[in-house]
Amino acid sequence: MPDRLFLKGGRVVDPASDTDAVSNVLVEVGRIAAIGEDAPAGVSVLDCDGLIVAPGFVDLHAHLRQPGREDKETVETGSRAAASGGYTAIAAMANTDPVADHVGVIEEVRALAAQAGLCDVFPVGAITKGLEGESLAEIGELAAAGVRLFSDDGRPVPTARQLRMALQYAQAFDVVIAEHCEDASLAEGAQMHEGYSSATFGLAGSPGEAEEIVVARDLALTQLTGGRLHLCHLSSAASVDLVRRAKAAGVRVTAEVTPHHLTFVDEDLSTYDTNLKVNPPLRSVDDREALRAGLADGTIDAIATDHAPHAVEEKEAEFDQSPPGTIGLETSLAAVLTQLVQPGRISMSRAIEALSSEPARILGLSEHGGPVAPGSAANLTVFDPTATWVVEAPFASRSRNSAFLGTTLTGRVVHTLLRGELTVADGKPTR
Ligand SMILES: [Zn+2]
Repeated sequence: MPDRLFLKGGRVVDPASDTDAVSNVLVEVGRIAAIGEDAPAGVSVLDCDGLIVAPGFVDLHAHLRQPGREDKETVETGSRAAASGGYTAIAAMANTDPVADHVGVIEEVRALAAQAGLCDVFPVGAITKGLEGESLAEIGELAAAGVRLFSDDGRPVPTARQLRMALQYAQAFDVVIAEHCEDASLAEGAQMHEGYSSATFGLAGSPGEAEEIVVARDLALTQLTGGRLHLCHLSSAASVDLVRRAKAAGVRVTAEVTPHHLTFVDEDLSTYDTNLKVNPPLRSVDDREALRAGLADGTIDAIATDHAPHAVEEKEAEFDQSPPGTIGLETSLAAVLTQLVQPGRISMSRAIEALSSEPARILGLSEHGGPVAPGSAANLTVFDPTATWVVEAPFASRSRNSAFLGTTLTGRVVHTLLRGELTVADGKPTR
């Protein structure tokens, strides 16, 4: 691997430095050495004509399944999927087996990620022990071990009292509580969003209120405690309104949305495609429009994948037996370009901000998310914004339950650089 690389003539789009201009980028021993200068003699040149050079993407929400379900994904295969999608950093959710509620699992995931060397992996700590919603995990100990994000994702913190305590800890240790907002009693048995489509398809539904009730509770407690709250995978229009008002009132909250909620709606389940069975469920056209508008105006800060690999036999089961979730790391950029940037709903710069600089800020990462400037770590993504492709297996992920299977998307990652080393070159993982 050369320790100097010259990215020639790409369009550098870097929200962190408010840059959008064709320029050369020189990378030397893991760092950006120069912008806009000519190639030094003897350097390896990557021709970036027609391509976009951006800060590497950062995912706040990926399920890597290791330890426990290595048949679905491992830290290594998940890292490879991430690099293939242009990511240089991802947060790995805590709902593994065993649960990441103690430092041992955190250290194990970090060691596996370092060994793979394809993407920086930041393990998320559990909020409650075993994700059981009874007693709080050792948040202080995990924070001291460098954990920044805490979540019981898959389920919410069940009681207001526990969440209040978790937010108080979050404030004391300067960490972030990330919530999966879902009222269990309203969502029980649900297969999809409750509405005209669920009635037509004969599937049990869960209303948007299942999310909104918990969002409202969490925002109230964040205001009370002064803690830091992050809302995972928002899916309903009323949730977006609640967050907009809370932000205006100064509540310390951030929010994410997934590419699949920005793309699909409940009606798309007419095919009973289990890859479109996700949690929270795909909701109405109005909800999707509100999510797109919330992303455009900054109410929703970041795009996160909720990458959720599942075994083939699980997704081939009957619809009501199939587990919810779609993989997402390898299609997120293309989904966002196709659904939002191409139709002019958001700018290229806003898309990159939501995929990179904003999630890096939420995770507190100084080495990711830009700026693309001399001295910064060379964590970069180079992509073709016009390349069109059909999503199909095989994936770099060990699983293939993609909601986007068979769809045509525009935008493809060409190179990914992790501290100056190519983890993906010419569209292929380098190891
Ligand atoms: Zn979740």
